[in-house]
Amino acid sequence: MGLFDGKKGLIFGVANKNSIAWGIAQALHAEGATLGFSYAGEILKKRVEPLAASVGSDFVEECDVTNDDAIAATFAKIADHFGEIDFLVHSIAFAPGEELGGRFHKTSRNGFRIALDISCYSLITLAGHARELMPNGGSIVTMTYYGAEKVTPNYNVMGVAKAALEASVRYLAWDLGKDSIRVNAISAGPIKTLAASGVSGFRKSLNYVGQVAPMGNVDQEDVGQAALFLLSDHATRITGEVLYVDGGYNIMGAPDPTMMDGGEKSE
Ligand code: NAD
Repeated sequence: MGLFDGKKGLIFGVANKNSIAWGIAQALHAEGATLGFSYAGEILKKRVEPLAASVGSDFVEECDVTNDDAIAATFAKIADHFGEIDFLVHSIAFAPGEELGGRFHKTSRNGFRIALDISCYSLITLAGHARELMPNGGSIVTMTYYGAEKVTPNYNVMGVAKAALEASVRYLAWDLGKDSIRVNAISAGPIKTLAASGVSGFRKSLNYVGQVAPMGNVDQEDVGQAALFLLSDHATRITGEVLYVDGGYNIMGAPDPTMMDGGEKSE
């Protein structure tokens, strides 16, 4: 018996096998969920289709979340294929490369618009469409990062987008609570993925967090297990929350003193 036997849902944001969304998909598949996938552009098709097939999914649709017509068309196909759904995973973010490094005051109006549109507004509109297919309630999970709350150099406008995303999670949780739909975010520690590699100095940050966090770096599987919980009936009435899956990094006020001299973490 799997925790998700008989449950159906959509995963937005698989680009390749390193995607966090793929870690979540594997966890859901292991518990018996029926999955559909949506990816960003034609170029990703050849990566996403075989991954979807490997978890028994025959629903793989392209959808650029900046395009309202494409979103409506994708959800029409989802409705045809699945009827109702139980969950939605939103694992999407983007900012132009030049915005993910250097001086924050140089953030461009267009870079700001794109980052907020793709990384935040998309959750609001996808949640609205998903609601139509969740007449008996459901669960929605999105992905955020600590840079929403505290300055993470070079994360820049994406930190602002994640702050807006976390606020949107709370407003959606309030609004969709009326429909018995829960909305939560997972704040993951840094993981080497396509999106993360776009942030200037990412490799150094990853190493630093791995040393400072009480339990070191996290991976896609760790996030997958947390998503499983939030999407499942075990999380009944948990909504509007941001759950850290970061090895404990967010609780630290300073690194272990032995690290400050360039030494290793103490035993
Ligand atoms: P990823 O590159 O594998 O995933 C990002 C996804 O966003 C890709 O599938 C990409 O195609 C999709 N996307 C971008 N623009 C889109 C558009 N216009 N329409 C539809 N989809 C679009 O990287 P990831 O690290 O797995 O990122 C997934 C989520 O996790 C993001 O929200 C990211 O901010 C968040 N996150 C990542 C980390 C990390 O360190 N990797 C940490 C915390 C949170």
